[in-house]
Amino acid sequence: MRRYQMYINGQYVDPASNRWMDSYNPYTGEVWAQIGEGNAEDADVAVKAAAAAFSEGPWSQLTHTERGALLHRMGDLIIRDARKLAETEVNDNGKLIAETEAMIRYTAQWYYYFGGLADKIQGATVPLDKKGYFNFTQYEPVGVVVAITAWNSPLLLAAWKIVAALAAGCTVVIKPSEHASASTLEFAKLFAEAGFPPGVVNVVTGFGADVGSALVEHPLVRKVSFTGSDATGRHINQQAAKHLKPVGLELGGKSPNIVFADANMEDAVKGALSGIFSAAGQTCIAGSRLLLQESIYEEFTEKLVAGAKAIRMGNPQEKDTQMGPIANRPQYEKVLSYIEVAKDDGAELLAGGVAATRPECGNGWFIEPTIFGKVTNTMRIAQEEVFGPILSVITFKDEDDAVRIANDSRFGLGAGVWTKDMGRAFRMANRIQAGTVWINTYRALSFMVPFGGYKDSGIGRENGMAQIYSYLETKNVWINTGAETKNLFVMR
Ligand code: NAD
Repeated sequence: MRRYQMYINGQYVDPASNRWMDSYNPYTGEVWAQIGEGNAEDADVAVKAAAAAFSEGPWSQLTHTERGALLHRMGDLIIRDARKLAETEVNDNGKLIAETEAMIRYTAQWYYYFGGLADKIQGATVPLDKKGYFNFTQYEPVGVVVAITAWNSPLLLAAWKIVAALAAGCTVVIKPSEHASASTLEFAKLFAEAGFPPGVVNVVTGFGADVGSALVEHPLVRKVSFTGSDATGRHINQQAAKHLKPVGLELGGKSPNIVFADANMEDAVKGALSGIFSAAGQTCIAGSRLLLQESIYEEFTEKLVAGAKAIRMGNPQEKDTQMGPIANRPQYEKVLSYIEVAKDDGAELLAGGVAATRPECGNGWFIEPTIFGKVTNTMRIAQEEVFGPILSVITFKDEDDAVRIANDSRFGLGAGVWTKDMGRAFRMANRIQAGTVWINTYRALSFMVPFGGYKDSGIGRENGMAQIYSYLETKNVWINTGAETKNLFVMR
């Protein structure tokens, strides 16, 4: 059985407790690796290594340009190792190899983009309203950053947090999910190969309530960047607030995918199917509420059900598979329980609604692509994030009704709008309360584009140039250039 040690100060090390957690392959339902079960002691060692690397180590002496060059080298190594890293990640979380490998390859672009940005952040001289002073601002890295990630896309999510932080000059401690830590641990050694000094990037593993909580509480940590459920995000925000630490929170969603009667029907059906069934619905941006204009309900749901039934399920390591398993047993049970919740609330089951028993699903944690019709937006299935392959279909009358239903949610992460009327498309984009709106497409993301949520979907934005400022402090400097000494007891 492969054991994955933690990565602290440039070395792979056993957990202080010498306890190990089992990591399950969701396709086989069997343990495939063991991961170190870190605790507060490991968190302390990792944070101290990151703090020393930040203030004393060679990292602190590098120019911005040199830091950027290291990030570029990481991008090259990621592309070189993408296949192997993807296979590891798929063993852990069951996401498709086709998507995971492409996604990890694409992750390299984050390293190139922010590597390029590292030496382009400039302060300003301020044209003062007072004579006899020179005044300027400069940006300085905040210090040690803790990056806590979810299990659905460990390496992509880690990149979204740490690359901008490293470009800013921070050092980091990553805490991946206890359900999928292996790829992040395997990946960590590439930082040494790229030439990053020890302690700049560390990975500790274990349960959130133990090692995760200890990281958030640690006095030397200056910022916490979190991706996960809104319940955990809320808790972390409270914990961080006690120490006045800033947080970035990328949380869940209940995203509306809205189809008007004038839309290109074939495209919209594909957008609806991939919006919810990609990654078996285990994406924060899943289009889990399909809003259909009343007049197309029958025709659209018929095509939708046919499409759902045609989805190829099976081994996520095979490149032609379209839908893999649910990533872990607790999540599998949670998704099944929501099927019962939807039925009890009176939703009409149109497809799926059961665990998949197809032979190609082996002993894995598979659930048939599930579609509920005649859902009303007040039902739990329309309001709560399931994070699984369950689609709720809701009808609307007109544009105002669609906006009202779309915004009647405590979440606001993503939204899709399908229409040929471009005026309407712009109006909808303006009126929907969500961090990302896709018009006649869905699930498009880029390192250049800010991503994040309104309302309970989070705080702050990741990606795009502005993200780097969330890892920088602004310092302002006053220099007295006057010939005479002024009376310092009087405020100027
Ligand atoms: P989760 O909240 O259960 O866990 C996320 C991480 O937090 C894990 O690493 C976990 O160990 C850690 N954690 C748990 N309790 C903690 C504590 N008290 N202190 C510190 N750390 C703690 O979420 P999950 O089930 O792993 O992921 C699914 C959720 O993630 C969904 O809600 C999904 O929408 C969200 N998500 C959001 C985005 C986004 O970018 N907005 C992306 C992917 C996933």
